[in-house]
Amino acid sequence: MDKSFAEVAMELSGKSAEESQSIGKVDTADDQVEDMFQEKYQTKNSPVYRAVWDHTFPSSEFFSFDFARPNWPHLENNINIINKYKDIEALHGPNKKLNEELLADLAEAGYFGLLVPLAEKPPIKFSEFSAFLTEVARIEASIAGLASVHGCIGAVDPIKTFGNQDQRDRYLPKLADGQFLSGFALTEPGAGSDMTSLKTTAVLDGDHYVVNGEKLFITNAVCGRLISLVCMIDNKPQVLLAELPPTETDEFQLVKYDLHALKRLHNNGLVFKNFRVPKENLIQLDRGDGLTIAYHGLNLGRISLCANASGCMKMMLDSMIPWAHYRNTYGQPIKNRELVQNRIGKLAGYILASDALVAWCSSLIDSGYRGELECIIAKTFGSECQKEAAIDLCMKTHGGRSFLGGHIIGDNIHEFLAPLIYEGEGDMLNMAFFKALVKEHGVQYFEPIGRVMAQSGKKNMSPLDMAKNYKTFLPYAKWMLKETTYSKGAMRMDGLSHTLRAYVSVAAKELQDTGKELSALMRKYQLKLGDKQCRISMLSRKIQNLVTLIVTCTYASMFDNDVITKTAEVTCDNLCNSISGHNQTDEQIKRSVALGQQITHCAIMNQEANFDDILMKY
Ligand SMILES: Cc1cc2nc3c(=O)[nH]c(=O)nc-3n(C[C@H](O)[C@H](O)[C@H](O)COP(=O)(O)OP(=O)(O)OC[C@H]3O[C@@H](n4cnc5c(N)ncnc54)[C@H](O)[C@@H]3O)c2cc1C
Repeated sequence: MDKSFAEVAMELSGKSAEESQSIGKVDTADDQVEDMFQEKYQTKNSPVYRAVWDHTFPSSEFFSFDFARPNWPHLENNINIINKYKDIEALHGPNKKLNEELLADLAEAGYFGLLVPLAEKPPIKFSEFSAFLTEVARIEASIAGLASVHGCIGAVDPIKTFGNQDQRDRYLPKLADGQFLSGFALTEPGAGSDMTSLKTTAVLDGDHYVVNGEKLFITNAVCGRLISLVCMIDNKPQVLLAELPPTETDEFQLVKYDLHALKRLHNNGLVFKNFRVPKENLIQLDRGDGLTIAYHGLNLGRISLCANASGCMKMMLDSMIPWAHYRNTYGQPIKNRELVQNRIGKLAGYILASDALVAWCSSLIDSGYRGELECIIAKTFGSECQKEAAIDLCMKTHGGRSFLGGHIIGDNIHEFLAPLIYEGEGDMLNMAFFKALVKEHGVQYFEPIGRVMAQSGKKNMSPLDMAKNYKTFLPYAKWMLKETTYSKGAMRMDGLSHTLRAYVSVAAKELQDTGKELSALMRKYQLKLGDKQCRISMLSRKIQNLVTLIVTCTYASMFDNDVITKTAEVTCDNLCNSISGHNQTDEQIKRSVALGQQITHCAIMNQEANFDDILMKY
């Protein structure tokens, strides 16, 4: 098989065979997921990729939002069930996990089958699912998390996308009606970020695979559930559908630990000692391996994570407004103070941008895109905003009460931080984003040059060397000439709110210029680029912020609503500051504060603020 660009680049830069091969395996799995999509929906034709590299801005793709919600009445039934349990304070059972009776009621209402394709009941669209998750998370985030693990990265996606007919017939109905809740078991004590270090093995013995090894941090993994278990079979990672037995046995044990995050869900280590799985439970792929399956589900999981973050941030906002109205210091409610108003304005901006990314990415997925770059943006943005919202905005506003049991922050701080880590730690994803973006450009223009350099044993090429090898350099010189001589087609502004046009126009132009920046970084660091992780992560974040700005504005423009437009402006201000590294200007503070004031005022006037949850009233 041809080596991937990343592997070749690593080898050429003098990295060890082991490191190069590991990166090569990840890259190959990624290529294999790409191949599952029609060319027009692959990463190289995705909106972000085209905005960066093409000469025409893919304007209409940035306006791609599907707001149709045909299944909403049915979904609201699930919301009513959750609210019913919340009202009687029964969301959690005696073990502090989600109440089993609640899960049974949700199962009956079809909650676990939303993404499961059954002959008699097709799955709902992903854009409906993700919007619904935000509503659920606003009430209880772990219920949304459960649906996301089960439907996106658990057994549902592997079986519906890669399973054979027998596996689909045997498992999809049970996954849909909640008989089997599911999870995805990839991480091991020695393999987390590095998915190529897996040690768990499965060896065919008659009609069964015999599994040996240990998994760590597996959400939803508890006796009686169905796990997509990634293990090494014939020296490559593959996925076995493992029915965990009803109780622990000599062959299967749970490892319990005190994990603060996702405390309402089960999360355990799994130890397998000669654990037998029927051989027909192996998911066989024509191309690819277990990592291909993992990568496929992860994109859906990343959107869900952002949807969940949006719900949690709405919950934070819901808690801040009544408190800010109630709490008096120095003779005034803190809602009148600039610092607090600014926080409320900022938080509203984060929520709007997260909703925009969720709606956009989901619509792209529904229309057939792989969405690799776009889903990474949703994941990193949602998790970073949720962290900042929890610590800098919500916690600070609630003061000492934040640390009380029963407080939204005190009770959930680990829940709000954990998304930074699972489904890909943010900086690692920033690097993956960069790699996906430069891959084609690297293969086309830099790989041939790298080969010449490796052959000549030189780390840098002098003008004389370049002249000698001009044929190798010519295609890149032509690309540069085109980039610097021809201006690119600007983003279309029709459909955009007038207030937001200036932001979008600048951001779209900057985004179009990042192709040159990416290429300059490749030129500057050449074969050492892989080691320049900080620089990669920074440029990656800049591109992601530019995309987020544009998507927030196109999304906000769909509503024709003054408050939403103002919220988008505040989002844009904050994103521009993140990109430039500047503080808020006086004008930006004024906008954010005015928005915070308006949101608080409206919530109080419309009697939407709930004062019951304020702790230690005086
Ligand atoms: C609440 C929770 C739920 C989870 N649920 C699941 C689940 O259901 N299924 C599952 O399989 N896993 C699950 N995980 C595991 C999760 O996916 C891993 O924790 C995550 O992938 C990171 O792996 P790690 O913890 O081993 O970090 P490590 O691999 O130990 O890495 C630690 C840090 O080192 C840095 N780092 C690592 N490698 C590099 C590098 N090459 N270059 C630069 N920096 C690097 C990164 O910042 C990284 O975050 C869960 C984790 C948590 C906390």
